[in-house]
Amino acid sequence: MCGIVGYIGTQEAYPILIKGLKRLEYRGYDSAGVALLNHSNELNVYKAKGKVADLEYSVASKDTSGTIGIAHTRWATHGEPNDANAHPHYSQSSNLALIHNGIIENYMVIKQELLRNEYEFKSSTDTEVLVHFIEYIKETNNVDLCRAVQIAMGEVVGAYAIAILDKNNPDQIIAARKSSPLVIGIGEDEFFLASDATPIIEYTDKVIYIKDEEIAVINRGCPIKILNMTDIEQTPEIKTLEMNLSQLEKGGYPHFMIKEINEQPQTIVDCIRGRVSVEAMDVILSGVLDHKDKFLNAKRIIIVACGTSWHAALIGEHLIEDLCRIPVEVEYASEFRYRNPVLNKEDIVIAISQSGETADTLAAVELAKASGAFIYGICNVVGSSIARATDAGSYIHVGPEIGVASTKAFTGQVTVLSMLALTIAKERKTIEKELYVSLINELAAIPEKMKKVLEKNEIIKDLSKIFTYAHNFIYLGRGYNYPAALEGALKLKEISYIHAEGYPAAEMKHGPIALIDTEMPVVAIATTDRIYEKTISNIQEIKARKGRVIALVTEGDDVVCNIADYCIEVPKTLEYFAPLISAIPLQLLAYYIAVNKGCNVDQPRNLAKSVTVE
Ligand code: GLU
Repeated sequence: MCGIVGYIGTQEAYPILIKGLKRLEYRGYDSAGVALLNHSNELNVYKAKGKVADLEYSVASKDTSGTIGIAHTRWATHGEPNDANAHPHYSQSSNLALIHNGIIENYMVIKQELLRNEYEFKSSTDTEVLVHFIEYIKETNNVDLCRAVQIAMGEVVGAYAIAILDKNNPDQIIAARKSSPLVIGIGEDEFFLASDATPIIEYTDKVIYIKDEEIAVINRGCPIKILNMTDIEQTPEIKTLEMNLSQLEKGGYPHFMIKEINEQPQTIVDCIRGRVSVEAMDVILSGVLDHKDKFLNAKRIIIVACGTSWHAALIGEHLIEDLCRIPVEVEYASEFRYRNPVLNKEDIVIAISQSGETADTLAAVELAKASGAFIYGICNVVGSSIARATDAGSYIHVGPEIGVASTKAFTGQVTVLSMLALTIAKERKTIEKELYVSLINELAAIPEKMKKVLEKNEIIKDLSKIFTYAHNFIYLGRGYNYPAALEGALKLKEISYIHAEGYPAAEMKHGPIALIDTEMPVVAIATTDRIYEKTISNIQEIKARKGRVIALVTEGDDVVCNIADYCIEVPKTLEYFAPLISAIPLQLLAYYIAVNKGCNVDQPRNLAKSVTVE
């Protein structure tokens, strides 16, 4: 959500900042801006509602010179998306310019105090309050900018990653964070600053992840200085990035989403590499094995997540209960954190988040930690906040996911949950050897089966044309495929803006069947499993009411194909892994419908990739 980029060094900053903002576009935003200190030490701020391209257009004839600058893409929380509310914001004297990702929760109280001191506000944002406040502290306490930021950080409540330029100190950027991510890239005589590593990777692979309540003081030509709130210097931990530039580009596909859908056979190989061995007939998930006792003694597992990760969690619930016989509860992180959940030391809390920055999930982790429960993270972004806040965990290793609507991260999360369940089941001896072996073989075969599903691309593309102008959709599934139905509906909603609902197929008759008529497309997942026959009856009930059924069936199924209006055949798999296969045609269907409608597939309206506000 929103993006921060900064540069200080020997090159012109503006092109680097703009390119960096474009790399961060996938996170979702509604306006953009840049602040540059030019060679005469003038602090120029330019901002525009809309895309980064709109900003570029609006500054075409302006002075964009300077070798130091900060830039921002905003995802509005306080005040509508317009030029005035876009960042950077000047301080009262116009000496400081600040960009901010996050929310200042007590901005109103601070604003009242500033208004009493005759400060004037040009925007409705919480961010402008913060920059005025920092300047107010600087002036009233007669301290330098770094100290003023430290004092302000002690006073503000909320989440932030900030970067500040000071006209009176033209060789310095100050940055700080709490809850919102911030990474600093270290080059030759230059530093890069960003919300994640994607804008940095083409310049350097050496980075420092700023920790919560740390301040980075970046002076031109000097080593970086990291301080905590009480001014104690911290030793920066320099990490080497593992991603490469080609992972951040579209590689010939029209959108990141379709690229990422097609990557899934490979990302599952990457996810299980070194963890699933067909030769040794074993699954080794080290995050679990390193804490074997916790999993052996667990009385209950609670999975906290949001959005697509929550759907993966529901599949995890099936897998863990089926294979490990441990009770599992799945919670929306946003609800969990504001209840008074009963947790104890024998509980394990699993937090799932692609970005590892999801604010609600991170808060749920902190809450669970306080109760003494053991916390396990499942994230994609290496070094992310959740990955660092948890006691142990597993990365899904699917590479950067740029499309806002999650695809390969979903299947990666389900794959990690499958490996986790298999590892625990073996240790707890709750799985028969025969089933263990067949599940390992099947998991290793999933990438090839995914390739077969992807061969249905043209069929699904043609099918999408029939339904482009539908106003509503229902997705049905049962058992392991019920969360897959929820995920299919969410994909369609997110990128095509068509209203869609996922239901357990048998639940239809308890209400939603009233919606069925000739106008209502119903996507029914009816692959062969324990409840296949029951699902057929549910499809019959829809057909009897003239619903239009698109069925997802196992190859060679002519029973459902004779009932349904349209059929998509997928390779047979064990039902434990059914969602890994069913997810793909539903991703493709949503993708093509959105493309037919001319929607912005990779950056759907109102959505953000990394949801760093609660
Ligand atoms: N709360 C700030 C605003 O509304 C920052 C939002 C963001 O993270 O982009 O301007």
